[in-house]
Amino acid sequence: MISDLLKKHDLRKTPARIEILELYADTPHAMSHGDVEQQLTEMDRVTIYRTLATFEEKGIIHRAYDGGGVVKYALCHDCSAHHHQDDHLHFSCVQCGNTYCIEGYAIPKIENPKGYTINNLFLFAKGTCNKCRVESRE
Ligand SMILES: [Zn+2]
Ligand SMILES: [Zn+2]
Ligand SMILES: [Zn+2]
Repeated sequence: MISDLLKKHDLRKTPARIEILELYADTPHAMSHGDVEQQLTEMDRVTIYRTLATFEEKGIIHRAYDGGGVVKYALCHDCSAHHHQDDHLHFSCVQCGNTYCIEGYAIPKIENPKGYTINNLFLFAKGTCNKCRVESRE
């Protein structure tokens, strides 16, 4: 499945690409460059950096804007190179600090302000994720 994804996006299979993609597929929340680095300690930073940049360019991962200073990425579903369509809500949990893609929660359409044209609109929310909510009840 991972190698199909690389093939679909015209990317050669390399061990680093496969490993990073597997990590994203197995993680339910968005991850920054530093998060990947922490998980894949054997991999050098430059490889991670380049791989994430390639993935973003090819439409495999997208930036999950959460209002924080660190860029986090999450897997795309139906994006292609230079054409991202990840217009869903990103939810950032104030307790665990994780950012989640809320698929199916579309961003409401808003009108262009007079004299301006909107190309991309980002929506993010802060609050408590389901996991932390359940844990705090126990
Ligand atoms: Zn995308
Ligand atoms: Zn949480
Ligand atoms: Zn997302």
